[in-house]
Amino acid sequence: MNAESDVEDDRVWIIATRNIKKGEEILYNYNYDLEDAFDNPCYCGSKNCIGYMVGEDYWPKLRKQIAKRDKKSK
Ligand SMILES: [Zn+2]
Repeated sequence: MNAESDVEDDRVWIIATRNIKKGEEILYNYNYDLEDAFDNPCYCGSKNCIGYMVGEDYWPKLRKQIAKRDKKSK
């Protein structure tokens, strides 16, 4: 993660949270709500990524939901 997103006047702004080198991939969270998490899968492939575009604040809750979902699907 080297950037964050912010919505202002219906535009999404991507703000770098540290210096990003030329050619470096910009990684940021979309801060979608937890409710929409499963509708917004993330394909960045990062090992640190939870797999859904959800604000990092929601990650602990989302992990529980994923665990629950995986149990059900078995
Ligand atoms: Zn991702």
